[in-house]
Amino acid sequence: MKYYSTNHNSPDVSLAEAVVKGLAPDRGLYMPERIGRLPQEFFDNIADKSFHEIACTVARAFFGDDIPAADLDAIVCDTLSFPAPVVEVEPGIYSLELFHGPTLAFKDVGARFMARLLQYFIKRGDDRRNVHVLVATSGDTGSAVANGFLGVDGINVHVLYPKGKVSPIQECQFTTLGKNITAIEVDGVFDDCQRLVKSAFLDAELNDKLLLTSANSINVARFLPQAFYYFNAYAQLKKAGKADNVVICVPSGNFGNITAGLIAHRMGLPIKRFIAANNANDVFFNYLQSGVYEPKPSVATIANAMDVGDPSNFARILDLYGNDHKAITSLISGTSYSDGLIAETMADCYKRTGYMLDPHGAVGYRALKQLLMPGETGVFLETAHPAKFKDTVEAHIGTTVEIPSRLADFMKGTKQSVPMSKDFDSFKKYLAGLV
Ligand SMILES: *Cc1c(COP(=O)(O)O)cnc(C)c1O
Repeated sequence: MKYYSTNHNSPDVSLAEAVVKGLAPDRGLYMPERIGRLPQEFFDNIADKSFHEIACTVARAFFGDDIPAADLDAIVCDTLSFPAPVVEVEPGIYSLELFHGPTLAFKDVGARFMARLLQYFIKRGDDRRNVHVLVATSGDTGSAVANGFLGVDGINVHVLYPKGKVSPIQECQFTTLGKNITAIEVDGVFDDCQRLVKSAFLDAELNDKLLLTSANSINVARFLPQAFYYFNAYAQLKKAGKADNVVICVPSGNFGNITAGLIAHRMGLPIKRFIAANNANDVFFNYLQSGVYEPKPSVATIANAMDVGDPSNFARILDLYGNDHKAITSLISGTSYSDGLIAETMADCYKRTGYMLDPHGAVGYRALKQLLMPGETGVFLETAHPAKFKDTVEAHIGTTVEIPSRLADFMKGTKQSVPMSKDFDSFKKYLAGLV
């Protein structure tokens, strides 16, 4: 299978190239050239299949040309070492819990899959240089990527984070791991971290010596596997006799997660419609109303993983529907909520149902409450565990949030990081020393 750029201004590439490159040379995002419908028989029997069986079938549709089935199945099953249950919150409204992975957020699925796929390509290829993954993080991405790659042979990960600017819970998730993961504490802000990473990718001398790659969230190997859990959620609803008129609501920031759902829909998954739920960062919501896409600087909110003012995956959504605003609005509706409403939703849902939402899931839950119509079944994606946002959640629900043991284990480890100034020279010296 070839992958093309959404900007249609650079050559089509193989899967391996799309994964190592991340972004196309024309700054477009890679898309699979074919998105085939899965056979009706698959949907007829889906309720009897396991998460692994479902995910392997979906994975073969994308990656089956490039990777032998047995190898691909092993990558899929190793990636999905945790469940993604659908839990009823109240009649007609279900939570698809995506926080059962090692770092308690949905990004674990894509990060783990990408790590294993990259390792597979390295073993198969003849480039004998060591691979170095560089990732700049403001908190959550660093932990998902670091843990996704932890212990994966032949790949070293360097996580750059701004000193004093990530929460202690986030910090311990990438500074205590050891092995092939190095945390780099940059004396600067997130933008400095990102600039250092970008400069490294552009530095010819470094790229001669080292194979550098980005594990960015727009990478096809991080984005496509997210389709797995949409199919699995549908299977669980079907088993419960609730699979008619399903509406899926996705708390969205960079729009990678919802785009994977739209791809599942294109593959024949019987979802009636989607809701893209936003916090105060409302560019997509405005696009739905007006047909005009106007990116703007992001604003900080309590659902901070969704603070995006120019969502990268918007390009993929336009591409999927041929730039047709009407086609997009007939399938996707949107909402936008202030921090006040998000906080009120966490408190109200907990009081009425006992279900504890994290700030991102709260955006999704509220959107379903607002837009679900009679006869529809709603599922929102609970994208992170409330304990990841312990202080915010506790402040609004008035109860202690228990920290799951796998999160507490991170906090017991010894923090280790390499101090780094924000000028490129010192970062370059550090990288050159890795050869
Ligand atoms: C990344 C993230 C989101 C946003 O997902 P996108 O794919 O960027 O739309 C939502 N919630 C949480 C907890 C996240 O970490």
